[in-house]
Amino acid sequence: MLNEKNLLLHICCAPDASVPVPDLLAEGWKVRGFFYGSNIHPLDEYKKRLDALKILMRHTGIECEVLPYDQDEWLEKISGLENEPEGGRRCTKCFELQLEAGACAAKKLGCENFCTTLTISPHKNVNLINALGEDLSRKNNLVWQNRIWRKNNGFLRSVKASKELGLYRQNYCGCVFSMH
Ligand code: SF4
Repeated sequence: MLNEKNLLLHICCAPDASVPVPDLLAEGWKVRGFFYGSNIHPLDEYKKRLDALKILMRHTGIECEVLPYDQDEWLEKISGLENEPEGGRRCTKCFELQLEAGACAAKKLGCENFCTTLTISPHKNVNLINALGEDLSRKNNLVWQNRIWRKNNGFLRSVKASKELGLYRQNYCGCVFSMH
């Protein structure tokens, strides 16, 4: 059964979640995380990001659903978009895949509300991300929590919080195409 205060938070990485998680908990939400991860390359990098997520989970006390790592499946799904520039159609598809999987998890776990940490990044198209989240939430009978986490110095706060927690912070978005 769905619970109106339950919120599934799609977490792209621990540093980006270091502000949304405590802020949502302070607002009274029952937060559960969701980590997709199959876009990340290579496997060692995935493991580093997952370890950082575990630190954040211990610190905040939240649980997190972690999908099995399957980079081949992700590559297949973005096939044809490999040469797109960062911020282009490959990224739109990547956001869609992550949020679609998150919406499925929210339904499975009985969360009525859905949100993402992606909008803390100064580099990402937050309107596009919120529009995708809104659309997928509507299709899955969820309530999209429209947030722009980078507002009010959100990104700088996350840099500070991540340093305090000793969280690993990557220097590229995640996929093999964003490494260089
Ligand atoms: S650059 Fe980032 S958002 Fe774009 S496809 Fe790669 S991992 Fe996904």
